[in-house]
Amino acid sequence: MTIHNEQTVTPPVPHLRFRQVHLDFHTSPLLPEIAADFDAEDFARTLRDAHVDSVTCFAVCHHGLSYYPTTVGAVHPHLSRDLLGEQIEACHRYGIRVPGYITVVWNEHQATLHPEWRQVRPDGRAAGRLPVGPIGKHDWQWLCLNSPYTDHIAAVVEEVVRGYPVDGLFLDIVMTVTPGCVCGYCLNGMRDAGLNPADEGDLRHYALSVERRFMERISREAWALRPDLPLFFNSRLRLAGDPALGNRPEAPSFSHWEIESLPSGGWGYTHFALYNRYFQTLGKPRLGMTAVFHRSWADFGTVKSQAALDYECFRALAGGAACSIGDQMHPRGVLNPEAYRRIGATYAAVEAREPWLRDATPLAEVGLLLAPDVLSGTRPVGLESEEGALHMLLELDAQVAVLDRQSDLSAYRVIVAPDHVRLDPDLAATLRAYLAGGGALLLSHESGLRRDGAGFALDDEMGLDYLGASADDVEFLRPVGGLEAEIPAMDHALYLRGSAVHARPGTRMLGEVVSPYFSRT
Ligand SMILES: [Zn+2]
Repeated sequence: MTIHNEQTVTPPVPHLRFRQVHLDFHTSPLLPEIAADFDAEDFARTLRDAHVDSVTCFAVCHHGLSYYPTTVGAVHPHLSRDLLGEQIEACHRYGIRVPGYITVVWNEHQATLHPEWRQVRPDGRAAGRLPVGPIGKHDWQWLCLNSPYTDHIAAVVEEVVRGYPVDGLFLDIVMTVTPGCVCGYCLNGMRDAGLNPADEGDLRHYALSVERRFMERISREAWALRPDLPLFFNSRLRLAGDPALGNRPEAPSFSHWEIESLPSGGWGYTHFALYNRYFQTLGKPRLGMTAVFHRSWADFGTVKSQAALDYECFRALAGGAACSIGDQMHPRGVLNPEAYRRIGATYAAVEAREPWLRDATPLAEVGLLLAPDVLSGTRPVGLESEEGALHMLLELDAQVAVLDRQSDLSAYRVIVAPDHVRLDPDLAATLRAYLAGGGALLLSHESGLRRDGAGFALDDEMGLDYLGASADDVEFLRPVGGLEAEIPAMDHALYLRGSAVHARPGTRMLGEVVSPYFSRT
């Protein structure tokens, strides 16, 4: 099935502010006196004093409640002011931008009003509500982007963009349960498209097409109202959007990328490095988003150490991205002064460096090529090989970009293909042309194999024949050919089962494999 891209609008290219705060305000309807202590002047001055120059404020939260007078949604029952309007007015007086936040798939209010719009998991359960995770937290309800709910979101977007001078929109949680949704709308859609809901691949494919159609519609309608509106969908920023294309197909719906990556909140410290170096190749402004909390979102009563906050922000800058620090305002509408003391210390340093950061372009001489199964999200293991290769390259102070098969390889002196990059005829031809043009290729383990694993697609160029998986689970590497002068001249243990190869005459060897006495069983 093909979803035709009806995009005719050219996305704007915003000059992102470097010192942003993403100010969560997910506020239960059970809480009283919402924003009762909010003072617009205090709010804006606290941000200004912390060197913040952009703050994303809430139009609609995961509870499905609005923080402005809405005619299409539901205002928080215990809010008695136009909070969003006051935030924008006060911040604009101090030159602080205010993008608006709108939740999409997680919306408790609409899910309760319209249970028929909820996503349905393949086992028949509606998505969300049931306890998830090790401590059994109750999940938000998930709404389907293939249901009439999308008309509601379109109406909210129109209301906010027409009603307020927002400096952008952040549409959160644009995603489908894994592997896909089997609600009535999706089942009908799959049937019409000739897809099989019992097939996991078809479910993934259809869910992705639904998400893309939603983003295409909302961006087209939003830019018809405000052509220069910065627009970001917090979809699955996948190295895995499409079997071959990553996030390229939906890129025309985005003005920029916001890489949500809280190192202590489940993402880890490698996530941002890998994703940022992929998105830097797609030609849009980027920002790296961490949070002021110690661990993850809504980790109330904590504040991140200054060193960690500095490191996470400076790393974004070094990678050519702007900074965004996540926070959540107290339900009574007051910012935590200690959090803004810390943010202010980091952002004062960022501000001092901005003359060197504006319009900077990351340059890279090494390309790290992603495997097609990383891009399709179907690999049964994680990203260990990609992360390991990236770690090694960064420790060598190499400048690295992460590439997919659509990337222009000629810009790089070396292409590294870690462990799992099998080659179909097209990719083999691309790499052959790259080598013929003077490029260098570094392959490990099964990279370079044909898709069926029967042999190397570039065996002539590599000077190697593939013999299959190693016979033993642990082997030893004996350095030869000069390598023994650079690392200890001994047999080095190889911890994981590798690939056995045979070098053709004339191929220079730097290592020989030494077998163990036996594989232990
Ligand atoms: Zn559905």
